[in-house]
Amino acid sequence: MLLHDKFGRAITDLRISITDRCNYKCVYCRTGNEGALYGDLPFEDYLRMARVLVGMGINKIRLTGGEPLLRKGVVEFVRELARLRPGGPMPEPLDIALTTNGHMLAEMAQPLKDAGLTRVTVSMDAVDPERFARITRVPNGYDHVLAGIRAARRAGLWPLKVNCVLMRGFNEDQIIPFGMFAREEGVTVRFIEFMPLEEGRTWAPSTVVTLDEILARMAEYRPLVEIPHARSETARRYRFEDGVGEIGIIAPVSHPFCGHCSRIRITSDGKIRTCLFSVWDHDLHGEMRRGSSDAELAEFIQSVVQKKEERHHIGEPDFVPASRTMVHIGG
Ligand code: SAM
Repeated sequence: MLLHDKFGRAITDLRISITDRCNYKCVYCRTGNEGALYGDLPFEDYLRMARVLVGMGINKIRLTGGEPLLRKGVVEFVRELARLRPGGPMPEPLDIALTTNGHMLAEMAQPLKDAGLTRVTVSMDAVDPERFARITRVPNGYDHVLAGIRAARRAGLWPLKVNCVLMRGFNEDQIIPFGMFAREEGVTVRFIEFMPLEEGRTWAPSTVVTLDEILARMAEYRPLVEIPHARSETARRYRFEDGVGEIGIIAPVSHPFCGHCSRIRITSDGKIRTCLFSVWDHDLHGEMRRGSSDAELAEFIQSVVQKKEERHHIGEPDFVPASRTMVHIGG
């Protein structure tokens, strides 16, 4: 049984939030006042959900949060996930990725790699320690994150991506410094357009630094050449003309890619979300608590996927804010 939604999109990509706690309070995500709202589940429950979903065609799992590295036992969990095998005539190993703020990555990169983690994405929104502190509202985080990025590279967690959310008034002047950073550190820096998923409800179209603006700014530094990308890839990719360094731009606001979306998410409290902007979620953990068999869970998942939204409505008059903010969904 492979997962397709009613628009014919194949669902192959699962994100699991393993906690909605976070040690950072980034301005584009949190107010700094709210803590965790939904709690988390024992790892064995996520593992069962993952096993059922891998049996339905999921071949990529990304762990996220909140901050996933705050969860004790995450290395063991990765080891268990790495034992799952996607189906198909020539089964490939499961692609297991992690999105982290990188604060605790320096010590954990090698154990995670040894446990079977394939790739890591580190969120970093400035390449200047003071600006970094202003955005994350955490003093002295910058050196930890830089050490985490370098440890991930040494551990062979490759390709290594650094995600930067651009928000006008905070870090739009970091575009060129991040271009330099990509070249110097040998990482792919991906700029992400700010989406209306923050706790503070401060989003407005004018706060979004768009793909066109990022490209124009970077071109002042060095010429870029677009790299052809798979339709299902969310990022548009570019390399610098001299062949050194790559950047990506994820532009869900100015260039939506809903038509190729292959994702579903499980929140830290075990709900399925079919879109970041869903106004409801579906209680998979509730089904487990009721004693459903794996086959019944698969049937439930199949029916939920049929409800996947066709697209988001950011910036349109009928836009209704998502029922959860990013930190409680799992980005
Ligand atoms: N704590 C981890 C981290 O910092 O990467 C994982 C969770 S975080 C919610 C996942 C990603 O969502 C990060 O790359 C973060 O920058 C991004 N994000 C959070 N709020 C966002 C927003 N309003 N718009 C766009 N991206 C956002």
